[in-house]
Amino acid sequence: MFSIRHCLLFSSSSLLRFSARRPTRKIFIGKMSTTTTNNSTIQQRFENIIKPNEDKRNYLGLKLTNNLKVILISDPETDISAAALSVHVGSMSDPWQIQGLAHFLEHMLFMGTKKYPNENEYSKFLSQHSGNSNAYTGDSITNFFFDVAPEHLASGLDRFAQFFIEPLMLESSVNRELEAVNSEFEKNIKDDSWRLLQIKKLLGSSKHDFYKFNIGNYETLRDGPNSLNINIREELFKFYEKWYSANMMCLCVYGKESLQELTEMVTSLFSLISNKNIEPPNWPIHPYSSDNLMKQVHIVPIKDKRTLELVFTYPDEIKHYKSSPGMYLSHLIGHESKGSLLSELKRLGLSSALLSYYDCMEGFGFFHINVDLTEMAMNQIDQNKGLNFIKFNFMEKCNPIDYVQKISSEMHYYPIEDVLCANYLIDQFKPELINEHIDYLKPENCIIAISSKSFEGKTDSKEKYYGTDYKIINISNDLIEKLKNPGQNEQLMFPEPNEFIPTNFDIITLFLGFKLINPIIYSNPYNVNINSLFTMLFKDDLTEFLYNAELAGLSFNIQSTVMGFDLEFFGYNHKMNIFIKQIFEKLLNFKPTEQRFEIFKEKYSRNLKNYKTQPLYYLTSYYLKSVTSELFWSYDNLIEALDRMDIDSIQHLMKIFLTNFSIETLFHGNIDEKQVLDIMDFIQKNVIEPNRSIPLHKYHQSVPREIVLEPGCSYSYEVINDIQKPKAINIYYQVSFDDIVETSKLLLIGQILSEPCFDYLRTKEQLGYVVYTKLREFSGVYGLNFVIQSDYNVSYLEDRIEAFIVWAKKNFIEMNEDEFNAEKQSLITRLLKKKKRLHDYSMELWGEISKERYHFNKNEDCAEIVKGLQLKDVTEFFIKHFAIESPDRKKIMIQIVKTDSEANKTLPPSANDSDLLPAPPKKESILIENVEEFTKYKSLYPLPKPKTTTNNFKKRITTSLFFSK
Ligand SMILES: [Zn+2]
Repeated sequence: MFSIRHCLLFSSSSLLRFSARRPTRKIFIGKMSTTTTNNSTIQQRFENIIKPNEDKRNYLGLKLTNNLKVILISDPETDISAAALSVHVGSMSDPWQIQGLAHFLEHMLFMGTKKYPNENEYSKFLSQHSGNSNAYTGDSITNFFFDVAPEHLASGLDRFAQFFIEPLMLESSVNRELEAVNSEFEKNIKDDSWRLLQIKKLLGSSKHDFYKFNIGNYETLRDGPNSLNINIREELFKFYEKWYSANMMCLCVYGKESLQELTEMVTSLFSLISNKNIEPPNWPIHPYSSDNLMKQVHIVPIKDKRTLELVFTYPDEIKHYKSSPGMYLSHLIGHESKGSLLSELKRLGLSSALLSYYDCMEGFGFFHINVDLTEMAMNQIDQNKGLNFIKFNFMEKCNPIDYVQKISSEMHYYPIEDVLCANYLIDQFKPELINEHIDYLKPENCIIAISSKSFEGKTDSKEKYYGTDYKIINISNDLIEKLKNPGQNEQLMFPEPNEFIPTNFDIITLFLGFKLINPIIYSNPYNVNINSLFTMLFKDDLTEFLYNAELAGLSFNIQSTVMGFDLEFFGYNHKMNIFIKQIFEKLLNFKPTEQRFEIFKEKYSRNLKNYKTQPLYYLTSYYLKSVTSELFWSYDNLIEALDRMDIDSIQHLMKIFLTNFSIETLFHGNIDEKQVLDIMDFIQKNVIEPNRSIPLHKYHQSVPREIVLEPGCSYSYEVINDIQKPKAINIYYQVSFDDIVETSKLLLIGQILSEPCFDYLRTKEQLGYVVYTKLREFSGVYGLNFVIQSDYNVSYLEDRIEAFIVWAKKNFIEMNEDEFNAEKQSLITRLLKKKKRLHDYSMELWGEISKERYHFNKNEDCAEIVKGLQLKDVTEFFIKHFAIESPDRKKIMIQIVKTDSEANKTLPPSANDSDLLPAPPKKESILIENVEEFTKYKSLYPLPKPKTTTNNFKKRITTSLFFSK
């Protein structure tokens, strides 16, 4: 129900995800098994797709007569079906005068087709059948994808295929959707990863397509084209006609039907896409030439952070995918175990994180080494084959929508048979090729990008779109000479053999969670800081140890919580017990060094002080929590308590913690009792006994409670944020407490309102890029949030949400039984959707333990209740809790505003539209002036009762649960 749609993926984090991809074209050569077919729309069939050993699903590759490539996946057990289509064109192919056009087109294809002209038909259909959709535009790929309840796959595909057959792109939608693209750009303006990306673009040749601005805004998509008499709608069609050709597209469809049925479904629809036989674009010349290299660029970031990034020119590696030299290089450089580059940088106190990866476009590539710098640094890089083999063959099922999206993109780059395994199976070892590629990583091929607040006032240029301050300087010859002759460092060595690689191939994954509970942790901001710092330092200390374990599929995480901290272990079971014991031993003997303490204290303070730069929709939830919880330490409270911390305080607090605590554990996966008892015995002897610790008393309360809002109330809490450009509103209606029937009604209301909320407030009214409604639960109290991040003033946004609620009430009253039953069915399917990965399921169970609710089959219980819900009851329930005239409604509103006067901000063009939903007369809200005063004298809801009665505080280990896969 969270709809932030149309995400243009190209910030640095997404690059990472694509780091293993190596694009090129004309790949359909090699081993093909061609079967004759009597379907006249099929040119070729590929029946030998290499798949993981454990994968029971059936795969079939097709090449249709229009040259569209297809992979079909038949999974009779799936509870959700999915499809993705990727087109081999992206923002690098935008016309120079209309930058952002490829991205704008991606948005426009959602806005109605000849066969289904309604603007929201596709989204509405998917929403009513348990589905979701999204799309992204990359440099050279545009990907569209959706999922839907299995029985509706054919109808979903019919709506989807029309995007590529006959889209409408109506004049009126063009104008409105332009606002959505511009709001998307404005949302990213203050995001450092987007700002850095644009700087990296401008460092290259201004004549290269890489230089282009990819998102687009009013300037590049409206004002610029207008001044040149360019008709944007005609250009959208031109771009579409030129590039959206069947031979440029790859489709992946995942369904419960047989391969034969899926083949019929797909060929009847997608063979209608026309084939223009065009060549996908390619850029054999690198955007960085010798004129651009050997430069340093100093950048002033928004967040107070310090990073150094080395960007090397690198070749497009796709033709070497079977030997993958770049993977060896990024593995060696990015290694974190003993003797690694990172270990050495840490030893010298220069850095605490390092990342090495490469990415390739069609024809050229980059190799990146990113380092997180410490303050001190400012003032002055055949085991792997085996590991990848295991990762591929024991790959867990992921969500179909993610799976089809990934496959449809990679189909452009690898032969159909190898699409699934290309990123995992490296069956050739070519040392000469690796050496050849090492040669690219030399100082002459490099650009150094450094981001730091210390460059403030010392830059001489401003980036055009994002306004980033920067300065480009030449790397001195002295430094180049030094870099060419670095000498030997005795501390650096090749990775040692990895003791964690499983040798028993009867592999099964497990999740093991330990919750160490002592309320002392959340009793004051000082302790919260110490606990957070402790977990950061402990993770840092484990880097070398965990690196090998993680390569071998064993992961560990420690997290500070309001109750203490959580230890989470996940991975193959073969060496799990050894792994857990080693971590516990390290935990009990952990003593941070003075140097690491100072580095992390500084880093932690900086993160806290950066809190206002977090996404506004996230901040609205944070402020909402601050005004509705009985106990809540704000960022400001934590900042105030920073000074007094010293290194001894960490060990002191941990000592106190261990004298009086409880442990709750979850063992999830195919684990036997002996293994469990072995671990629990270890904890008894090594953690509990030596600390002579006593269990928590039953009066110890750990989870904070929520305040009770009075019926008929309307509160507003205003916060100023001058760092970010847009404003935001979050209206919360508090509805019910610990009542599964009421929760189910609320879930159904959320299901019914989610799609129209997006359609009215975003698509039609264009209030902002981020618009959604979401169910909220806190300590057993349930309600609904309406969130908008926007340039318009918050009072107007409040009116629009209230207007939407007036519409929703009318919609409930006029709804017919068929529509109501369809919505019920959609929700039930969502609730009963199985978790594809063990880890996701574990997290759901773990969440119930964290909340101390232990309602492990909550979704099934809700689904059962939803089945029996009556339209009349749900309508009454909606009116009671949401209608403005209801004496029972409980409303609280968070508004993030700016200091300058908002009164004269222009309203959106739609504000004068007579078709606009009428807003009810405004009810005055009571302003919350002092949060402490506000929450202190309010009644509190009780703690919700646990649903399982294993909770006995007299016993030390309160919950040990076994679940078999
Ligand atoms: Zn977008």
